[in-house]
Amino acid sequence: MSKEKRYKWRREGYRENTKGLLMVNTGDGKGKTTCALGLMMRAAGRGMNCCMIQFMKSKTDRYGEHESAEALGIEVHTMGDGFTWDTNNPEQDVKTSRETWALCVEKMRSEEYDLLVFDELVYVLDYKFLPLEEVISEIKSVREKQPHLHIVLTGRNAPQELIDAADLVTEMKEIKHPFNAGIYAQQGIEF
Ligand code: ATP
Ligand code: MG
Repeated sequence: MSKEKRYKWRREGYRENTKGLLMVNTGDGKGKTTCALGLMMRAAGRGMNCCMIQFMKSKTDRYGEHESAEALGIEVHTMGDGFTWDTNNPEQDVKTSRETWALCVEKMRSEEYDLLVFDELVYVLDYKFLPLEEVISEIKSVREKQPHLHIVLTGRNAPQELIDAADLVTEMKEIKHPFNAGIYAQQGIEF
Protein backbone atom coordinates (compact mmCIF):
# COMPACT_ATOMS: atom_id res chain seq x y z
CA MET A 1 0.00 0.00 0.00
CA SER A 2 1.37 3.43 -0.87
CA LYS A 3 2.37 5.94 1.81
CA GLU A 4 0.23 8.58 0.12
CA LYS A 5 -2.85 6.41 0.46
CA ARG A 6 -2.22 5.71 4.15
CA TYR A 7 -1.48 9.34 4.99
CA LYS A 8 -5.05 10.15 3.90
CA TRP A 9 -6.37 8.15 6.86
CA ARG A 10 -4.66 10.43 9.33
CA ARG A 11 -6.39 13.27 11.07
CA GLU A 12 -5.67 16.69 9.74
CA GLY A 13 -2.84 18.29 11.67
CA TYR A 14 -1.87 14.87 13.03
CA ARG A 15 1.77 15.66 13.66
CA GLU A 16 1.14 19.07 15.20
CA ASN A 17 -1.33 17.57 17.66
CA THR A 18 0.70 14.53 18.65
CA LYS A 19 2.91 14.16 21.70
CA GLY A 20 5.44 11.51 20.71
CA LEU A 21 6.20 8.94 23.39
CA LEU A 22 9.31 6.98 24.19
CA MET A 23 8.03 3.55 25.20
CA VAL A 24 9.97 0.64 26.66
CA ASN A 25 8.71 -2.95 26.82
CA THR A 26 10.95 -4.86 29.18
CA GLY A 27 10.85 -7.73 31.70
CA ASP A 28 11.46 -11.48 31.70
CA GLY A 29 7.98 -12.54 30.54
CA LYS A 30 6.72 -13.10 27.03
CA GLY A 31 5.07 -10.33 25.04
CA LYS A 32 7.54 -7.46 24.55
CA THR A 33 7.91 -7.86 20.80
CA THR A 34 4.33 -9.03 20.31
CA CYS A 35 3.05 -5.90 22.07
CA ALA A 36 5.11 -3.64 19.78
CA LEU A 37 3.75 -5.47 16.73
CA GLY A 38 0.19 -4.98 17.99
CA LEU A 39 0.84 -1.27 18.42
CA MET A 40 2.15 -0.98 14.87
CA MET A 41 -0.96 -2.75 13.61
CA ARG A 42 -3.14 -0.18 15.38
CA ALA A 43 -1.02 2.76 14.22
CA ALA A 44 -0.95 1.57 10.60
CA GLY A 45 -4.75 1.59 10.70
CA ARG A 46 -4.53 5.32 11.45
CA GLY A 47 -2.33 5.89 8.43
CA MET A 48 0.77 6.29 10.57
CA ASN A 49 4.03 5.48 8.90
CA CYS A 50 5.60 2.63 10.92
CA CYS A 51 8.91 0.83 10.80
CA MET A 52 10.37 -1.93 12.96
CA ILE A 53 14.09 -2.64 13.05
CA GLN A 54 15.00 -5.91 14.70
CA PHE A 55 18.36 -6.32 16.41
CA MET A 56 19.75 -9.81 17.14
CA LYS A 57 17.12 -11.75 15.22
CA SER A 58 18.70 -13.42 12.25
CA LYS A 59 18.52 -11.57 8.93
CA THR A 60 18.16 -14.89 7.14
CA ASP A 61 15.00 -15.82 9.05
CA ARG A 62 11.50 -14.87 8.01
CA TYR A 63 8.89 -14.67 10.75
CA GLY A 64 5.11 -14.41 10.64
CA GLU A 65 5.36 -10.69 11.32
CA HIS A 66 7.28 -10.14 8.07
CA GLU A 67 4.38 -11.47 6.01
CA SER A 68 1.70 -9.58 7.97
CA ALA A 69 3.67 -6.33 8.09
CA GLU A 70 4.13 -6.39 4.34
CA ALA A 71 0.38 -6.79 3.86
CA LEU A 72 -0.28 -3.80 6.16
CA GLY A 73 2.40 -1.55 4.62
CA ILE A 74 4.60 -1.70 7.74
CA GLU A 75 8.34 -1.70 7.09
CA VAL A 76 10.37 -4.36 8.92
CA HIS A 77 14.16 -4.72 8.77
CA THR A 78 15.73 -7.73 10.46
CA MET A 79 19.43 -7.10 10.75
CA GLY A 80 20.97 -9.44 13.31
CA ASP A 81 23.03 -12.61 13.26
CA GLY A 82 20.92 -14.42 15.84
CA PHE A 83 20.92 -14.17 19.63
CA THR A 84 24.35 -13.95 21.22
CA TRP A 85 24.20 -17.41 22.78
CA ASP A 86 23.85 -18.74 19.21
CA THR A 87 26.51 -16.58 17.54
CA ASN A 88 29.12 -16.94 20.29
CA ASN A 89 31.08 -14.11 18.68
CA PRO A 90 30.93 -10.86 20.67
CA GLU A 91 33.06 -8.94 18.16
CA GLN A 92 30.64 -9.76 15.37
CA ASP A 93 27.71 -8.91 17.68
CA VAL A 94 29.18 -5.44 18.30
CA LYS A 95 29.77 -4.86 14.59
CA THR A 96 26.27 -5.95 13.60
CA SER A 97 24.72 -3.93 16.44
CA ARG A 98 26.57 -0.85 15.15
CA GLU A 99 25.28 -1.40 11.61
CA THR A 100 21.75 -1.93 12.87
CA TRP A 101 21.93 1.19 15.04
CA ALA A 102 23.15 3.17 12.01
CA LEU A 103 19.91 2.21 10.23
CA CYS A 104 17.88 3.24 13.32
CA VAL A 105 19.59 6.65 13.27
CA GLU A 106 18.93 7.03 9.55
CA LYS A 107 15.24 6.21 10.00
CA MET A 108 14.89 8.53 13.02
CA ARG A 109 16.53 11.45 11.25
CA SER A 110 14.59 10.96 8.00
CA GLU A 111 11.49 12.65 9.49
CA GLU A 112 9.37 10.19 7.48
CA TYR A 113 7.98 8.16 10.36
CA ASP A 114 5.31 8.37 13.02
CA LEU A 115 6.18 5.18 14.91
CA LEU A 116 9.55 3.46 15.05
CA VAL A 117 10.16 0.19 16.89
CA PHE A 118 13.70 -0.89 17.72
CA ASP A 119 13.13 -4.49 18.69
CA GLU A 120 15.68 -6.02 21.11
CA LEU A 121 17.68 -2.79 21.29
CA VAL A 122 17.39 -3.02 25.09
CA TYR A 123 18.96 -6.47 24.95
CA VAL A 124 21.86 -5.05 22.92
CA LEU A 125 22.32 -2.28 25.48
CA ASP A 126 22.21 -4.79 28.35
CA TYR A 127 25.02 -6.77 26.67
CA LYS A 128 26.93 -3.50 26.13
CA PHE A 129 27.18 -4.04 22.38
CA LEU A 130 26.28 -0.34 22.02
CA PRO A 131 27.06 2.53 24.41
CA LEU A 132 23.94 3.50 26.35
CA GLU A 133 24.83 7.22 26.54
CA GLU A 134 25.13 7.49 22.75
CA VAL A 135 21.77 5.79 22.17
CA ILE A 136 19.93 7.90 24.74
CA SER A 137 21.47 11.14 23.54
CA GLU A 138 20.61 10.43 19.86
CA ILE A 139 17.01 9.54 20.78
CA LYS A 140 16.71 12.70 22.87
CA SER A 141 18.02 14.90 20.08
CA VAL A 142 15.68 13.35 17.50
CA ARG A 143 12.68 13.76 19.82
CA GLU A 144 13.47 17.44 20.31
CA LYS A 145 13.39 17.97 16.56
CA GLN A 146 10.35 15.73 15.93
CA PRO A 147 8.02 16.02 18.92
CA HIS A 148 5.41 13.84 17.17
CA LEU A 149 7.64 10.78 16.82
CA HIS A 150 6.69 7.68 18.84
CA ILE A 151 9.56 5.29 19.56
CA VAL A 152 9.27 1.81 21.12
CA LEU A 153 12.26 -0.11 22.45
CA THR A 154 11.99 -3.74 23.50
CA GLY A 155 14.18 -6.19 25.38
CA ARG A 156 14.95 -7.55 28.84
CA ASN A 157 16.75 -5.69 31.63
CA ALA A 158 16.09 -2.08 30.71
CA PRO A 159 18.77 0.08 32.38
CA GLN A 160 17.63 2.76 34.81
CA GLU A 161 18.84 5.61 32.54
CA LEU A 162 16.53 4.36 29.79
CA ILE A 163 13.61 4.05 32.19
CA ASP A 164 14.26 7.62 33.33
CA ALA A 165 14.28 8.90 29.75
CA ALA A 166 11.06 7.06 28.77
CA ASP A 167 7.42 8.18 29.04
CA LEU A 168 5.94 4.69 29.20
CA VAL A 169 7.62 1.62 30.61
CA THR A 170 5.92 -1.76 30.82
CA GLU A 171 7.43 -4.78 32.50
CA MET A 172 6.29 -8.18 31.22
CA LYS A 173 6.55 -10.42 34.24
CA GLU A 174 6.78 -14.16 33.85
CA ILE A 175 4.16 -15.99 35.85
CA LYS A 176 4.31 -19.14 33.78
CA HIS A 177 5.99 -19.96 30.46
CA PRO A 178 5.47 -23.13 28.37
CA PHE A 179 9.26 -23.31 27.85
CA ASN A 180 9.56 -24.47 31.46
CA ALA A 181 7.21 -27.36 30.68
CA GLY A 182 9.33 -28.41 27.71
CA ILE A 183 7.11 -26.75 25.09
CA TYR A 184 9.41 -24.85 22.75
CA ALA A 185 8.86 -21.98 20.29
CA GLN A 186 5.87 -22.52 18.04
CA GLN A 187 4.88 -21.13 14.65
CA GLY A 188 2.62 -18.11 14.82
CA ILE A 189 3.17 -17.74 18.57
CA GLU A 190 6.92 -17.12 18.74
CA PHE A 191 7.95 -16.60 15.13
P1 ATP B 1 7.59 -12.30 21.99
O1 ATP B 1 8.48 -12.07 20.80
O2 ATP B 1 6.97 -13.65 21.90
O3 ATP B 1 6.65 -11.17 22.25
P2 ATP B 1 9.42 -11.30 23.96
O4 ATP B 1 9.76 -10.27 22.96
O5 ATP B 1 8.75 -10.85 25.21
O6 ATP B 1 8.52 -12.40 23.27
P3 ATP B 1 12.23 -12.01 24.13
O7 ATP B 1 12.92 -11.66 25.39
O8 ATP B 1 12.46 -11.19 22.92
O9 ATP B 1 10.65 -12.16 24.39
O10 ATP B 1 12.56 -13.51 23.88
C1 ATP B 1 12.65 -14.12 22.62
C2 ATP B 1 12.00 -15.47 22.68
O11 ATP B 1 12.07 -16.06 23.98
C3 ATP B 1 10.52 -15.43 22.35
O12 ATP B 1 10.29 -16.43 21.39
C4 ATP B 1 9.78 -15.73 23.61
O13 ATP B 1 8.63 -16.53 23.45
C5 ATP B 1 10.78 -16.48 24.42
N1 ATP B 1 10.57 -16.13 25.82
C6 ATP B 1 10.05 -15.00 26.30
N2 ATP B 1 9.94 -15.05 27.64
C7 ATP B 1 10.41 -16.26 28.00
C8 ATP B 1 10.58 -16.93 29.24
N3 ATP B 1 10.24 -16.33 30.38
N4 ATP B 1 11.12 -18.18 29.24
C9 ATP B 1 11.50 -18.75 28.08
N5 ATP B 1 11.37 -18.18 26.88
C10 ATP B 1 10.84 -16.95 26.83
MG1 MG C 1 11.40 -9.84 21.86
